Amino acid sequence: MTTKRDYYDILGVDKNATDDDVKKAFRKKAFEYHPDHNHEEGATEKFKELNEAYQVLSDADKRSVYDRYGHAGMEQTQFGQGGANGFEFGFGDIFEAFFGGATTANRQAPEKGAPLQYSMTITLEEAAFGTSKELPLTRIENCTECQGLGSKPGTQPMRCPQCGGSGQIRRTQSSVFGRFTNISTCPQCRGEGKVVADPCPKCRGTGKERQQRTVTIKVPPGVAEGTQMRIRGEGNAGSRGGPAGDLYVNLEVLEHAFFRRDGDNILYGLKINVAQAALGMEATVPTLDGDAKIKIPAGVQSGAAFRLKNRGVQHLNERSRGDELVTVHVLTPESLTKEQRQLFEKLAEILGTDKKK
Ligand SMILES: [Zn+2]
Ligand SMILES: [Zn+2]
Repeated sequence: MTTKRDYYDILGVDKNATDDDVKKAFRKKAFEYHPDHNHEEGATEKFKELNEAYQVLSDADKRSVYDRYGHAGMEQTQFGQGGANGFEFGFGDIFEAFFGGATTANRQAPEKGAPLQYSMTITLEEAAFGTSKELPLTRIENCTECQGLGSKPGTQPMRCPQCGGSGQIRRTQSSVFGRFTNISTCPQCRGEGKVVADPCPKCRGTGKERQQRTVTIKVPPGVAEGTQMRIRGEGNAGSRGGPAGDLYVNLEVLEHAFFRRDGDNILYGLKINVAQAALGMEATVPTLDGDAKIKIPAGVQSGAAFRLKNRGVQHLNERSRGDELVTVHVLTPESLTKEQRQLFEKLAEILGTDKKK
């Protein structure tokens, strides 16, 4: 009958394994043999075996009995009593092994508030130079009347009648794997262990209220379309004294009337006529910081580009700036006055058919 495998062998750890080693080994193997995704023959048996080994080796008292007396020791002590196959294992343990303690986390601990997300539209100039803008938003804050406690000022919350203050409801179920103790959060107090006896009239006992606020958003120079800013502590209020969540602001940059942006460079198209192209000129072009003059040499071709150094967008988190690139577009007249026609005809005559000129 005593063909039971050694618990250390089952988990694949040695006798000196730490609690952490045991937990890690169990987590890995339990995942491998979990009947939800392992349909091989014997997987269920292996999973049961694994649980049994883990129940013993993860418990200091049980482990020391097992170390001294082996399986026999387990059968002859109180540890062998419960459960259909000699062990009662809590579903919480398995769950914890998989998800790192999600269910057994202390639900009464302070909890950070939920994040808030908003979008904000800015101009290209604001993106280039940075700005400070007011963002109106609605968020959940602690009730100013009860300071977030939910109880009418001067009254105390009472122990939750459903769970007796533990915040948890335990239910024991039988299944093919043995008896599970299913631990769930108490629905009445949502794990708090306490319920409001005399609710605050302002928030009706929730401890929270919606507030319209205006938050000043400091946009640094150099941001781009789609940049997400995170503003700490400007999100929704936390619970049980936890800090407020963060506010995330997604920036949308408006399309500009005549500038386009390419990285930190600004692109501008300058339209000139054929005479200006042939003779050259001094052109006035707009930049992010006012007009600038550029020299267009005689004989410029359509598509030629000129660079205005340091007239672009400031590099994010740096002092230096990109450039403005001015591209020349030579416009051919679409219609001519009588005088213009005569002059072009004269020009045509002089230029002849020599394609080099
Ligand atoms: Zn209140
Ligand atoms: Zn409760």
